[in-house]
Amino acid sequence: MKEFDYIIIGGGCAGLSLAYELEVHNKLNNKTLAIIEPRLEYKKDKTWSFWKVTSHNFDDCVKKSWKNFSINIPGKINHLECNNYPYQSIDSGLFYEKINIRLKKNKNIFFFKNLDDIDKKNSFIFNSVPEIKKNHLNLWQHFCGIEIETEKNYFDDSIFNLMDFDCEQRESVHFFYTLPYSKNKALVETTWLSRMNDNSQKDYDNQLKNYLENHLNLKDYKISYKEEGAIPLFYPANKEIKSQINIGTAGGMTRLSTGYTFLNIQEHSKYIRKNIENISNVKKYEIHKKYQFLDEIFLRVLDKHPEKMSNIFFDMFRASPKTVIKFLSNKSNFFEDLSIIFKMPKLMFIKALFY
Ligand SMILES: Cc1cc2nc3c(=O)[nH]c(=O)nc-3n(C[C@H](O)[C@H](O)[C@H](O)COP(=O)(O)OP(=O)(O)OC[C@H]3O[C@@H](n4cnc5c(N)ncnc54)[C@H](O)[C@@H]3O)c2cc1C
Repeated sequence: MKEFDYIIIGGGCAGLSLAYELEVHNKLNNKTLAIIEPRLEYKKDKTWSFWKVTSHNFDDCVKKSWKNFSINIPGKINHLECNNYPYQSIDSGLFYEKINIRLKKNKNIFFFKNLDDIDKKNSFIFNSVPEIKKNHLNLWQHFCGIEIETEKNYFDDSIFNLMDFDCEQRESVHFFYTLPYSKNKALVETTWLSRMNDNSQKDYDNQLKNYLENHLNLKDYKISYKEEGAIPLFYPANKEIKSQINIGTAGGMTRLSTGYTFLNIQEHSKYIRKNIENISNVKKYEIHKKYQFLDEIFLRVLDKHPEKMSNIFFDMFRASPKTVIKFLSNKSNFFEDLSIIFKMPKLMFIKALFY
C-alpha cells in the first residue's frame, strides 16, 4: 500500500481549507498528501457566514456581504453597523469547486474514500472527524435554513437580521436568522440552542412556514435550497495522539457561545502551514483560554435560564457593535471584554461560576 507524507482525514471545510492553504503556499511541491473523504460528490450543503475580522482565501466564494445588521426581541429592534468587519456568507458549493479544481492539478495530492486504502504508519495526520460521545446534557445549536425566492421584491438586502427572538421559545432558546441575498432571495433559518432532547423542536418546516407566512407576511415564495445541521456547543472527545493534529470541529475550532467555526478553521490552517516543516513539535493551536472560560459560563447561564437569553443577547449588542463583533470573533482586548461583561446580568453570571 502507498505511503504519504501527510494524510487529511475528512475533506470537508477544515480538511480542504488546510489542503488549499498548503497547496497555494507551495508546501506540497515535494511532499505527498492523501485526502480521505467518503462523500460521493461535492455539492452545496452549507452556508458559512461570519464577520470578516481577518483575511482568508475565499473572498471569491462570498455570495453576499453586509455592513448592517439587526437583532430583535418582542417589541424592540436594534440596528447596528459592521463597516469595519463586514458580515460575509460563503457558498460551500463554490468553495468545494474552487479547492478541488486547484488540488487536482497537483500530482502529489491523492484522494481516497477510506483510510484502510492507504498505509498510514509513517504519515503525519490531520484529522477532521469529530468523536461525539452521546451525553443528554450536551448543548447543541441545531437549525434548518431555506433559501427562498419571491415573485415580487420583498427584502431590504442592505441589512441582515442576526437574531429575531420574536417567536415561540418552548422553554428553550429559539430565534430566526435572515440573510437577504437580493431583494427577492433570502436564506431564512430557524435556530435552537438546546440539549436536542425535545423532538418537537425539530418541526423545522412548520416553524419556517409559520414564520414566513405569519411573521414576515410572505405567502408567495419558492424554496430553492435547504440546509440542516447541528453544531456541538461542547468540545468533541478526540484525543491528542502523536503524529496527529485534530482540525475543524474535531480540533475545537468552534466558538461554543456562537457556533462560529469557519474563520477559526482558516486561522488554524494558516498556523499549520507556517509551521509545517516542524509540525511534530509545534504547540497546539486553540481558541484563547479566556474565551473558552467565558463561553463555558455563558452556556451554563443559557442552560439554567433559557428564558433570559433573548434579553441577554439583545443587551450584549447594546455595547459598540465593533466591540461585540471582536469579542464574538476572538479578537477583543481586555477592556473590550470588560465592556461586554458589564452588559451581562452580574449576579446570574457570578452564580454560574459555582454551578
Ligand atoms: C449546516 C451548517 C451550517 C454552518 N454554518 C456555519 C456558519 O455560518 N458559520 C460558521 O462559522 N460555522 C458554521 N457551521 C459550523 C462549521 O463551520 C461547519 O460545521 C464546518 O463544516 C466544520 O468543518 P469541519 O471540517 O470540521 O467538518 P465538515 O465540514 O463536516 O467536514 C468533515 C468531513 O469529514 C468527512 N467524514 C465523515 N466521516 C468520515 C470518516 N470516517 N473518514 C473520513 N472522512 C469522514 C465528512 O464527509 C466531511 O466531509 C455550520 C455547520 C453546519 C452543519
